[in-house]
Amino acid sequence: MRKDIIVLGATGSIGKQALSLLRYNSSYRLVGISFSSNVEKIEEELLYFDSLKTIAIKDEKSAKIFSSSHPFYHVIEGEECSIKLIEKYPGAVILNALMGNAGFFPSLKAIENNHVLLLANKESLVIGSTLIKEKMKSSSSVIYPIDSEHVALAKLFDFLKSKKVPTDKIQKVYVTASGGSLRDYPLSTLKDVKKEDVLKHPTWKMSEKITVDSATLVNKGYEVIEASVLFDFPLNKVGAFICRESLIHAKIDYCDKGEKEEIVELSPCDMKVAINYALSFGKEKMHCIWDGDKKTISSLHIESIDDKRYPLFALTIDMFKRYSNVGMIYFNSLDEMLISSFLKEEIAYLDIYRGLKMLYDEFDKKDILTEDNFYRIQEDSLSVAAEILNRIKEGKR
Ligand code: NDP
Ligand code: MG
Repeated sequence: MRKDIIVLGATGSIGKQALSLLRYNSSYRLVGISFSSNVEKIEEELLYFDSLKTIAIKDEKSAKIFSSSHPFYHVIEGEECSIKLIEKYPGAVILNALMGNAGFFPSLKAIENNHVLLLANKESLVIGSTLIKEKMKSSSSVIYPIDSEHVALAKLFDFLKSKKVPTDKIQKVYVTASGGSLRDYPLSTLKDVKKEDVLKHPTWKMSEKITVDSATLVNKGYEVIEASVLFDFPLNKVGAFICRESLIHAKIDYCDKGEKEEIVELSPCDMKVAINYALSFGKEKMHCIWDGDKKTISSLHIESIDDKRYPLFALTIDMFKRYSNVGMIYFNSLDEMLISSFLKEEIAYLDIYRGLKMLYDEFDKKDILTEDNFYRIQEDSLSVAAEILNRIKEGKR
């Protein structure tokens, strides 16, 4: 029997790739999608999915425009449209490809209502780990990652399980980074880089926000946190290194019969591999797990992460360690605002670091995240972010 599926963030980079796979996937029936306002990006998709009945659009004006030209769909509008869409289809698989903090409540709702959750929205785990973990305890929900490094880690954990290696023999897990678009720029030139330079990712084709986060390595900081939450593994035992080709996505160091061992996962640099893994509930495993002769991968370029080039990598993780989820709500809101301002050419690339460092140095909020205070904190985080951005623009430090 075909499973109902809902794609949240259907007009985005991951959402569109997921829809392109679902066109030909006979295990699923797409019943609902959500997005913010990009009505024109969804037009063509509608032709492929007869089963699609409900369209959730955050922006009310766009929802009205869509409704008037598409009277046969049930349209849900407004800030909570993704949540209402989830509630409308009990038992549907939820693919969460929303961008940013907006993905958190839909993830929480999917878990509360016992849905299988295919999760691209890493922010859900970074800003909401405590509530998500708490909800998981009383839910039959299962989370399958879509982030490529976490898909790779899931495969490596499965491989070790099949070899009967106990979890307590696992010493450290790693996610890899490409190093981003500025990896070869002399440090002295980073102050002058333009948005065109930053948006030229060497290995992946992604949306603008995550491409900038890949240059600063904020994205890799998030992914270290994401790995710790997803696999319930101590944060200080999750690391990262650079594989310039983006062919190795993850690595695990472990101990077997007294010997130190390591395994890595290699797979194509294509998000569709990761999305397909999640759609198959972890059964489709297009990869090579390497645990043998070092020469096999000696042609790949591996580097450690340089603090001078990537100060935001450690800062991101430290913000989480010191200020937990609430700190990360402020951090991510500011990161988004700084990136958007950089892309409008209002501030310089290095101002992204300056702004986030100001937040880290000045942070004094004492709230503990609950379901009731999330929206208030989110709103306050936007005011704090706007205030820091203003100071940066005015040259005040
Ligand atoms: P995009 O910015 O390309 O897409 C975001 C999607 O979310 C769009 O459909 C957007 O609608 C929608 N959206 C944003 N806010 C809301 C809201 N409040 N309500 C409803 N819909 C909303 O993001 P990506 O696809 O690049 O990334 C999505 C997630 O996946 C992120 O968490 C990212 O970190 C993660 N990820 C992305 C990868 C990639 O290759 N892109 C790789 C690994 C992880 P609209 O188009 O109308 O604005
Ligand atoms: Mg990733």
